[in-house]
Amino acid sequence: TNRLQGRIAAVTGAASGNGRAIAEKLLAEGARLAAIDLNADALNSVFGDRDDVLCVQANVTDEASLREGFARIKEEFGQLDILVNNAGIAKFGTFEDLSTEEWNQVFAVNSTGPFLVSREAYPLLTSGEGDHTRAIVNITSVEAHIVISSSGHPQVHYNASKGALLQLTRALAVEGAGKNVRVNAVAPGFIETPFTAETLKAQETRDWLIERTPLGRIGQPEDVANGVAFLASDEASWVTGTTLFVDGGWTVY
Ligand code: NAD
Repeated sequence: TNRLQGRIAAVTGAASGNGRAIAEKLLAEGARLAAIDLNADALNSVFGDRDDVLCVQANVTDEASLREGFARIKEEFGQLDILVNNAGIAKFGTFEDLSTEEWNQVFAVNSTGPFLVSREAYPLLTSGEGDHTRAIVNITSVEAHIVISSSGHPQVHYNASKGALLQLTRALAVEGAGKNVRVNAVAPGFIETPFTAETLKAQETRDWLIERTPLGRIGQPEDVANGVAFLASDEASWVTGTTLFVDGGWTVY
């Protein structure tokens, strides 16, 4: 479909995995976009040839690089209709061995990053032409709601950082409502991306995931992207502050 014809989007972490699939889906729905990522080489090899994409190298934890990046976005597009806060990292490790540095690093990217990016994007989201709704979509995780300790990968800092992003989503939904900005989350279950490639190398892990998932398969980045496209579109014009679980039924089973 062409649900996002004429819209301008920005996607963080767009060079890989879920972010790449989200960017490609928004483009397929008719949007033009700013693809934001730390990794300039990956960004350019994925989107460098497209004239409907502005490649922006920026670190979501670094205010100066975001300020510069969003100045370029403003110059190129003038306004923003959709922001997808997708960039995120996971670190594994037992609680007893967790260093303050690791905790802070995960929070910097997964929680503070979406705050900094949203704050930078907000003037562009609230000042544009047209009366269609504007949308922020945050990529949280089922791990903002539940703890998958049986995966053998304890990660309390990841759980906590995604929980913070969940409540940022809800608080900003209330804040943004008066300015026509909807704010929602997509909470993916286990998705096959470079992020999870190492874990998915073990056949027994794959078998366990498939068996544990009511819909009986491992999620793909396109599953996440389809959920984001809905929340970003006018079809979701009365939806804000909510979470769409894209997890094959994991959290209800
Ligand atoms: P990925 O590692 O494949 O891609 C992440 C991208 O973000 C990379 O291109 C990386 O360069 C970029 N990035 C990392 N730190 C950055 C920073 N500081 N500034 C700018 N860009 C940065 O990961 P993925 O699996 O596609 O995950 C994307 C999002 O989905 C993350 O927020 C992750 O927590 C979430 N998620 C993933 C899964 C999963 O199973 N893969 C499940 C739930 C949630």
